[in-house]
Amino acid sequence: MSVPRLIVFDLDFTLWDCGGVWCDCLCPPFRVQEQRIEDATGRLVRLYDDVHAILKHCDDQVISIALASRTEQPGWARELLTHLEITERFAYAEIYPSSKLRHFAALQQASGIAYEDMLFFDDEMRNIDEVGGLGVTSVFVREGLTAELFHASLNRFAEHRRCDPA
Ligand SMILES: [Mg+2]
Repeated sequence: MSVPRLIVFDLDFTLWDCGGVWCDCLCPPFRVQEQRIEDATGRLVRLYDDVHAILKHCDDQVISIALASRTEQPGWARELLTHLEITERFAYAEIYPSSKLRHFAALQQASGIAYEDMLFFDDEMRNIDEVGGLGVTSVFVREGLTAELFHASLNRFAEHRRCDPA
């Protein structure tokens, strides 16, 4: 079965919820207490429920993973990733405001992996449209990535590749 060589995740509303806003709308400093991360106004930052299991699946299957975020506050995003203790899991992290075409060009160059061998999750259709146009299998996420959508997308990727001419 064909599996992606690189899986790329958006952050806001795909891997994490920042109290209902984009992470660049939070108010630092962030406080961390007993694995609860909150900003100065009490907004909680949390990974969606299935995210740890999804990342573990990627580890188990030895699939490289990456981040592509166009947040206006890359420093805050990186701090939150550190607090969540998941920074090291990602082989690549492209975090800066821009079209995601730039993020994916950087990922392709850094990894040497073809767009056709990548799978991408994002909650914004403009990103899905742009990145999908590159040939990346791009999956629209509604209200946070779930294990169900993740595994269905792996199947979709495998099916898609099976239909490709060799
Ligand atoms: Mg997002």
